[in-house]
Amino acid sequence: MVMIYSNSRLWLYENCPEAYKIKYIDRTFPELPSSVHAFLGSMVHESLEFLYNEIKSGKTVELDELVKHFAENWHKQYTLCVRIPVGDKEGDYFNKGVKFLVDYFQSNKPFSENTIETERKILFPLDENYAIVGYIDRIVLNEKGEYEVHDYKTNSFLKSQEEIDKDRQLAFYQLGLQALFDEEIKVKLVWHFLAFDKKIHSKRTQEQLDKLKEETLELIKKIESTTEWSACGKAFCDWCSYKKLHGLGKEESSKKVFTRNGNLSG
Ligand SMILES: [Zn+2]
Repeated sequence: MVMIYSNSRLWLYENCPEAYKIKYIDRTFPELPSSVHAFLGSMVHESLEFLYNEIKSGKTVELDELVKHFAENWHKQYTLCVRIPVGDKEGDYFNKGVKFLVDYFQSNKPFSENTIETERKILFPLDENYAIVGYIDRIVLNEKGEYEVHDYKTNSFLKSQEEIDKDRQLAFYQLGLQALFDEEIKVKLVWHFLAFDKKIHSKRTQEQLDKLKEETLELIKKIESTTEWSACGKAFCDWCSYKKLHGLGKEESSKKVFTRNGNLSG
């Protein structure tokens, strides 16, 4: 049987091995309310998917229609369970989402690029035993015959060109597109940083992609041979903040891993 990994699964191992163990091995990860940041991200993604699907089916979408769609969806889906930092207001995040969409709309209208897919699932093999799965926000086939991967980021960190040129997720998308269409296709990777109204482009060579496949297989081997699962103890880690909130992790096994990281106060 082929084992399937994803970028977020690998990311979780790299950032908090204990959280990884709870989620993917023990499968006892608590059902946590989603953070307001994640909620905002999913609402904005959904609205952009709506926008491009309407355009694809030959309709036009005005800015007020897009904002209305976002607002209706937000109010329908926002529940009291969404986790919001103390002192912050729901309205601030809602307004942020509106601003992202307004800026995106103004900078990218009339959306005449040849969008061929939205929210497209990709799946490609690393070898005969392992595969990677992912979802691409939007795929464009441009007039030069290049495939463009468009990915939207709603967080408030802007990555540097150097970081983007090394980003694993984007490279996985390229491998996914090659599996979907053909290995010889030309691919352009585009990240939209919505909070900055900024587009950053990147490319990968076949050598880089082959090397990434090897490195990913090595990482998986490391994960599968791990026996000691340290916790990151950081405030943004869902698992570690859950543990702190519920007074868990005081037993000696966790204490050992906590002191190794020395980061409990975070
Ligand atoms: Zn953690």
